[in-house]
Amino acid sequence: MTDCLSITVKRLSPSATFAMAQRSSELVAQGIDVVNLSVGEPDFETPSNINEAAHAAITNNFTKYSAVSGYASLKEAILGKLSRENGLEYNISEIVISNGAKQSICNAVLSLVNPGDEVIIQSPYWVSYPQMVLMANGKPVFIETTQEDNFKITSEKLEATITEKTKLIILNTPSNPTGAVYLANELESLAKVILKHENLFVISDEIYEHINYVGKHCSIASISGMKDRTVVVNGVSKAYAMTGWRIGYIAAPKWMASACNMLQGQYTSGPCSISQKAAEEALLGSQDCVEQMRLAFQKRRNLIVGLVSEIPGIEVMSPDGAFYLFPKCSFYFGKRYGSWTIKSSTDLAMYLLEEGHVATVAGDAFGAPDYLRLSYATSEERIIEAAKRLKESLNKLR
Ligand code: PMP
Ligand code: GLU
Repeated sequence: MTDCLSITVKRLSPSATFAMAQRSSELVAQGIDVVNLSVGEPDFETPSNINEAAHAAITNNFTKYSAVSGYASLKEAILGKLSRENGLEYNISEIVISNGAKQSICNAVLSLVNPGDEVIIQSPYWVSYPQMVLMANGKPVFIETTQEDNFKITSEKLEATITEKTKLIILNTPSNPTGAVYLANELESLAKVILKHENLFVISDEIYEHINYVGKHCSIASISGMKDRTVVVNGVSKAYAMTGWRIGYIAAPKWMASACNMLQGQYTSGPCSISQKAAEEALLGSQDCVEQMRLAFQKRRNLIVGLVSEIPGIEVMSPDGAFYLFPKCSFYFGKRYGSWTIKSSTDLAMYLLEEGHVATVAGDAFGAPDYLRLSYATSEERIIEAAKRLKESLNKLR
């Protein structure tokens, strides 16, 4: 019967991040102690002032449909955040709130991309970008980056990749999975290239904005001329430990915001009313929790970099942002243990899960077949345990 499925759906792959998290939960349900470094979500609890705002929202009957693009009060809070933290001045009609930044990005891709349009994506990339482009029947075009160029695209590479079919560029800073952070001058040189081409747009995914270990975040929209060409994507999942609340948003030129609003009005309506009230408190309340979590992530980053660097055959680059370590592991390809033969990062991730009880995500899913992604958004104790298990299991491979 799967033959009956649409061509669009048949073209897609399942989300590898969630697939590994699911497999890890299945092992846990069997009573196995798995250290889960697969899905990227802060292990911290949502700060209590935010939880209380959600309770108050229920008590005060914020339980009906909101406007499709979200409550005006949350949009005002977003406008304040963009002005205060990013130096970006938007109008309320240029904000659309969605069910997570994932939907925000997908709305923007579906609003812009026609069949056959090319969409430039930095590689390694977050698993969902190419899939969203495929949903729109567009063509993902990758710009490869390596450890040598700190996993960042250059203006030369960008210029060489743009064709008359290029409609969109998806940028992600700080980046999942590499942790790369673009500096203002690097974004300026990318912007120069973009502005030379009419009708070329950028989706700037800034969901890891606050998990940055190298200085101030820069949004490409703040570069002269770029605001009209950029869809800024952000949300509360990562900075406020609110992954389950499902609130993300865009700030974009009004014609783009209106298109996303229209799309959303037909297939999801506005996001959860209670979550919107919680997100409002996240943005308006004390920001101390954001810095506390960032410092904890930085400490964990230093810990995991140190521990994983000691494992023979693994090449580690210390990430500048987000909460992923993205080590090169291809040294282990071709090696064996028992009935296991490691031919790819997918084999290695499965081996580490089944044999070492550490859940990671294979680099294959991010367009980087020689790598593994380890989310260090977990306690120091679990990171130490994971590193020990990784070392032991990799050591068995001959
Ligand atoms: N962008 C990137 C790069 C991500 O890693 C994620 C995963 N959380 C998202 C967007 C989506 O975030 P959410 O839908 O939870 O807001
Ligand atoms: N963004 C997180 C990750 O990369 C959550 C999973 C997802 O949204 O794909 O693990």
